[in-house]
Amino acid sequence: EEEVIEEPDAIKGQPDVEEEEDEARTFEELGLDPRLIRALNKKEISITEPTPIQRVAIPLILQGKDVVARAKTGSGKTLAYLLPLLQKLFGMTDSSRKKLAPSAFILVPSGELCQQVFKEVSSLIDSCKVQSKAVQLTSNMLASDLRNALAGQPDILVSTPSCVAKSLSAGALKSESINDSLEILVLDEADLLLSFGYEDDLKALTAHVPRRCQCLLMSATSSADVDKLKKLILHNPYVLTLPEVE
Ligand code: ADP
Ligand code: MG
Repeated sequence: EEEVIEEPDAIKGQPDVEEEEDEARTFEELGLDPRLIRALNKKEISITEPTPIQRVAIPLILQGKDVVARAKTGSGKTLAYLLPLLQKLFGMTDSSRKKLAPSAFILVPSGELCQQVFKEVSSLIDSCKVQSKAVQLTSNMLASDLRNALAGQPDILVSTPSCVAKSLSAGALKSESINDSLEILVLDEADLLLSFGYEDDLKALTAHVPRRCQCLLMSATSSADVDKLKKLILHNPYVLTLPEVE
């Protein structure tokens, strides 16, 4: 079975992006920053070769495209978005401007996944020795905890949609600041975000997502819920479907 790459309507019929990317077999060839490649090599279980979804998704995300990535559980979707997301943040040198909200939001459907993604992103930032800072929001946080967590000007926020909604209503996050600062929005395990009841919380946020923001949607399945989120948030995305989607 072949992987399927649906291009956005706007560029259908133009020369293939697929072919070049199919040939890339290393993280270097995908255009990944050497600091990130070294960080991957230093992991307990060293990561040296990109997985199929990483091979296709990383170059598109680095180019700033909106992407829907559907690939089965265990196919490496976390690094498929984290690596290019970090690389883009490393390259954003607007430190002169006071940041009122994070540049990247990673939204996940559970506290457990939030913890996992936060650990992964923090360890990559640490081994790259860059200035970026990540925070996670957890459901036990009070309004004052949320304000403290966000007062440190993090670049990356990892959270469930409900903790973001709570931060908005507690004034820990300001909608104007989100509109001003947000550059990348990731919905991880998007298939679960709606079935776990986060629709209203998501809408409270997406109303403030600026048009320039790059949106990425990761999912193990293709479902009506994923389509609904895609229509709600993404603009003309590339849709990547790898074989053996669940
Ligand atoms: P998914 O989100 O698609 O279910 P994960 O991102 O959780 O999958 O990755 C599953 C496992 O594969 C993790 O333990 C991760 O560290 C590992 N992994 C990710 N990318 C690679 C790679 N390029 N090479 C080897 N292992 C990888
Ligand atoms: Mg995952």
